[in-house]
Amino acid sequence: MMTPLVDPFGREISYIRISVTDRCDFRCVYCMSEDMTFLPKKDLLTLEELDRLTSAFVRLGTRKVRITGGEPLVRKGVMQLFRSLGRHLHGGGLDELTVTTNGSQLARHAGALHEAGVRRINVSLDTLDPEKFRAITRWGRWDRVMEGIAAATEAGLAIKINAVAMKGVNEDEFDRMIHWCGDRGFDLTLIETMPMGDIDGDRTEQYLPLSAVRADLARRWTLIDSDHRTGGPARYVRIAETGGRLGFITPMTHNFCESCNRVRLTCTGTLYMCLGQEDSADLKTPMRTSPDDAPLEAAIRKAIGRKPKGHDFVIDRATRRPSVSRHMSVTGG
Ligand code: SAM
Ligand code: SF4
Repeated sequence: MMTPLVDPFGREISYIRISVTDRCDFRCVYCMSEDMTFLPKKDLLTLEELDRLTSAFVRLGTRKVRITGGEPLVRKGVMQLFRSLGRHLHGGGLDELTVTTNGSQLARHAGALHEAGVRRINVSLDTLDPEKFRAITRWGRWDRVMEGIAAATEAGLAIKINAVAMKGVNEDEFDRMIHWCGDRGFDLTLIETMPMGDIDGDRTEQYLPLSAVRADLARRWTLIDSDHRTGGPARYVRIAETGGRLGFITPMTHNFCESCNRVRLTCTGTLYMCLGQEDSADLKTPMRTSPDDAPLEAAIRKAIGRKPKGHDFVIDRATRRPSVSRHMSVTGG
């Protein structure tokens, strides 16, 4: 057994999120601009290389892998990656293989995801109103996402809905979303907008602190503190009236870095040790220089040795620039 990956602050790194493409079939207003420039396809690691990198992390103690993007399910052949990573679930090297998706391609992939060993998925859905959905995602079709969610349920996948909380956009819908998720047995997580990458608009207009949302919800719902954890940054409450779970991801109002157990790998083989910092490590070069994984594993250990204590996101009128220049679609949410 290899020594696990432990960062300078004593946090064991057991979770990796892998952005398999920076491309997406939506253009969500908080995530990217409408004329977003994507990486040339030739810069992408192959699916075999992504498997090799991920497997190195599994050998070094990673227990959970989340495939994300961009929209992971638009990457050609991505099911091959899910199937091959599924071997670590059978072999006991991995506890969980999961995905975050916008749901647009779920109808055709849900069955194959389940066959590959995926049991829970996150679907991003900010509104139950098809028109509003169009406005937020610019290019998305709400009915296709609904078909995808139905197919995922049919395939036996547990679903968590992720909604970015936006002032004046969907803040009037949380009660309805709590009911909707409760009726279907879905968990729901609300996320604060993070200042990542240039977008067309102004983030101060969108930002809604979840501390205020939670206080408001508590006037109508019985929120019971829960110590449920999924290995991610969300903090959960149980809603007595629906029996469902409600999570809050609050990078802005409450820093969650002290318990951070994760790192992020991009589709070009760059490892980001923190979502909210610029420092990164190139894993592509050590991987490509040798068929043996020793240089790669050494590069991973060195990178974890530089994991910062936390992020310093700020959204205010004085800070017009995003705290981190890369988009969420590059590092993966
Ligand atoms: N395309 C997939 C999706 O939307 O689920 C996966 C990638 S997306 C970048 C992952 C998550 O990040 C989504 O739930 C999305 O809403 C969220 N996200 C994107 N940009 C964000 C931002 N600036 N602040 C907070 N959350 C963001
Ligand atoms: Fe695409 Fe996801 Fe970003 Fe929306 S949040 S533009 S679906 S990557």
